[in-house]
Amino acid sequence: MSIFQKTLTNTVTTTGIGLHSGRKVHLTLRAAPIDTGIVFRRVDVDASLDIRVAAENVVDTRMATTLAHPENPQARVLTIEHLMSALAGLGIDNAIIEVDAPEIPIMDGSATSFVYLIESAGIVEQAAARRFLRIKKSVCVTEGDKTARLDPYFGFKARFDIEFDHPAIDGTGNHFEVDFVGNAFVHQISRARTFGFIQDVEALRGLGLAQGGNLGNAIVMDEYKILNPEGLRYKDEFVKHKILDAIGDLFVIGLPILGAYSAFKSGHALNNALIREILSDTDNFEIVSFSDAAQAPEFVRAGTQKELLV
Ligand SMILES: [Zn+2]
Repeated sequence: MSIFQKTLTNTVTTTGIGLHSGRKVHLTLRAAPIDTGIVFRRVDVDASLDIRVAAENVVDTRMATTLAHPENPQARVLTIEHLMSALAGLGIDNAIIEVDAPEIPIMDGSATSFVYLIESAGIVEQAAARRFLRIKKSVCVTEGDKTARLDPYFGFKARFDIEFDHPAIDGTGNHFEVDFVGNAFVHQISRARTFGFIQDVEALRGLGLAQGGNLGNAIVMDEYKILNPEGLRYKDEFVKHKILDAIGDLFVIGLPILGAYSAFKSGHALNNALIREILSDTDNFEIVSFSDAAQAPEFVRAGTQKELLV
């Protein structure tokens, strides 16, 4: 039996606020046909303009990953990375993501609400082989002392190191490594929240950003300590959130990756530079599928027994 593509069984909707805009957003996830990929749709701008997930459609990576339609920059969607991470983590190939505002809602600052939403929708296999982008050659990008790289690996794993020189972060794990087999994404990564510093939040607000940011959707720190009364969800929540972001940023390439990601102090901009560098030379990768599930890496074999949607 092949490894098949997957989409959602049912349509699901939720409501939240945009981290930067502070605006209320309705978010709807819909099933999509074979080979659609992940498509964003701004129903408040022009619902006929599909904003396809692709490295070249990323137009801004300063505070979040922003996608735009190549011919209509009005049709743009900010802060896609946590939802993209949940879609990648749960192995969704095809989905339509509708929003009625410029930004994906921040929810609780992690991917856990999106995981719940996708699981509530249900996941169904489709009658076409799932395609993977297999890294054939090591590719590394750098910016100052930051690095991000992908190396060949028969599976998908991620390793991240952070360095913030902040007492509240230094006391937690600055390094994390995870091989995505079984439920590793859901259990070890998906609940890690975004984080920021109160002095930056104030500066961002002055620029009209972070209007929706609060202790309910981010870990917020002053110069010394974490301000959230509940503390951390994982003892190494910061580095785990950087992995969560990276998984979403990598999935913007359009296909699940077979490879080993590793990074030091990387962020949305460098992760996007990495996928563009991969795509710049066809010797760096190949597109593969598995007609025999037994030949596929362990992390993609789950769910091969499910009923087919034809
Ligand atoms: Zn994030």
